[in-house]
Amino acid sequence: MNKNIDDLKILIDSKTLNDRIKSLADEINAIYPKDETITIICVLKGAVMFFTSLAKYLKMPVKMEFISLSSYGNSTKSNGKVKSINLALPSFEGERVLVVEDIIDTGLTLTFLMNFISQNCKAKDVKLAVLFDKKCARKYDIKPDFCAFEIDDKFIAGFGLDYCGLYRNLDYIGYFEE
Ligand code: 5GP
Repeated sequence: MNKNIDDLKILIDSKTLNDRIKSLADEINAIYPKDETITIICVLKGAVMFFTSLAKYLKMPVKMEFISLSSYGNSTKSNGKVKSINLALPSFEGERVLVVEDIIDTGLTLTFLMNFISQNCKAKDVKLAVLFDKKCARKYDIKPDFCAFEIDDKFIAGFGLDYCGLYRNLDYIGYFEE
């Protein structure tokens, strides 16, 4: 059945999102040396809003990189395959890297990506920050270093996350009731 914006119930409002992202940035600022550069990698497209919000609150010198990956297509369930669209990254030899992703669901996408970065980019440290963790849906053994919210196994959209390409621009997170 097609869903539209009237079916989207608010799960997390804009202020709650922003307050939590700011406090997550404080957690990140506390872990990294404040004068050492980190490269933050935005996993497009879903992480775009989280990435730009988080970046504003980081206090150390920051470089930005962008990659594209997808696994859901137009479905609301993972199809079990990672579709790589653009994984072109520079070498991060001796540098610190923080991967910024919208959500971990089964863990397939991030297991693939974290392995790819560890094997190809020679960084001295690779960590992972996610906006959402659907822990109960996990099929791969991966844990984020930083997570803003743990959520139940429901399909969410808004604030970067889409449904059929839509709703990424919303400043809140909504969910579709089954
Ligand atoms: P995984 O590989 O962990 O199963 O799925 C991760 C990817 O699936 C995320 O990067 C995101 O693109 C997509 N995804 C997982 N759960 C949701 C959801 O509730 N809503 C949306 N819009 N995408 C999701």
